[in-house]
Amino acid sequence: MANYGFLGLGIMGRAMAENLVKAGHEVTVWNRNATKCAELVALGATQADCPRAVATACDITFAMVSDPTAAAEICFGEQGVIGGIGDSRGYVDMSTVDAETSAKIARAVAAAGGRFLEAPVSGTKKPAEDGTLIILAAGDRSLYDEAMPAFEVMGKMAPYLGEVGQGAKMKLVVNMIMGGMLTAFCEGMALGQKSGLDGNKILEVLDAGALANPMFKGKGAMLLKEDYSTNFPLKHMQKDMRLAVALGDELSQPLATAATANESFKRARQAGFADEDIVAVYKTIHGEK
Ligand code: NAP
Repeated sequence: MANYGFLGLGIMGRAMAENLVKAGHEVTVWNRNATKCAELVALGATQADCPRAVATACDITFAMVSDPTAAAEICFGEQGVIGGIGDSRGYVDMSTVDAETSAKIARAVAAAGGRFLEAPVSGTKKPAEDGTLIILAAGDRSLYDEAMPAFEVMGKMAPYLGEVGQGAKMKLVVNMIMGGMLTAFCEGMALGQKSGLDGNKILEVLDAGALANPMFKGKGAMLLKEDYSTNFPLKHMQKDMRLAVALGDELSQPLATAATANESFKRARQAGFADEDIVAVYKTIHGEK
């Protein structure tokens, strides 16, 4: 069995690393805030001091951190992955970042003698816990094949999308659609309830027709209970909208709906909901804040 490393034990990374440990793999973990490693160590993982030590010790190192800045820092920092990767060892970045950041990391990993794959995921906290993520892989094909046993533990499908950048772009397209749908849904829920409709009835009607989807169902139930406990931090969704809009700028693709949804998420961040779940955008759309 391969020897895996895992960098970043936030909401997603913790669940993904835990599934690797529970599947019997040898896993070495690191997190910036080291206290988050304790739970994994209790399950049998080994804790390392820095990303470089993980990349040096492991056949394949996975990473799941917040954004492009974090993804770059764990690679290019003084104790970063680039200082430890080599001898064809693998680095798989599963964070949601832009294609340019991913390409920069890919070039540095290759220059250091390692192999790189980007593999952002679709799916949230529960699919991460259940091992049913959709993994959007792109980059080194041999590393993709070697990482497959780990992908099979963490996800339900892992299509290979081609050269580095294709996975990052696929992920941004998916989340851009999701952010637009969520804000439209929140507007509908606010309008409906203000006009005297019962929130549960709106959900029932939506669920019975062509607009039925797990997001409306799940986030709708949370919204009605005023439960904003974090599955997907709102600040990360706003980052995804920002990166998608930037990609649209680059390609001169108008993204009127996404750009407006991005503003709603920015307003929600400004109102103090950055660390709450994405459904907290409802509070600003409804006009509570
Ligand atoms: P999270 O709970 O906020 O965790 C973020 C992780 O990144 C933590 O381990 C954090 O370390 C680390 N980090 C942040 N800045 C860092 C830096 N400068 N250097 C080193 N480590 C840093 O986020 P998450 O929900 O797990 O999301 C992780 C990634 O998956 C994001 O790119 C997100 O967009 C994507 N994603 C999330 C979901 C979801 O539903 N949650 C779904 C699909 C994709 P500390 O613990 O030290 O702060």
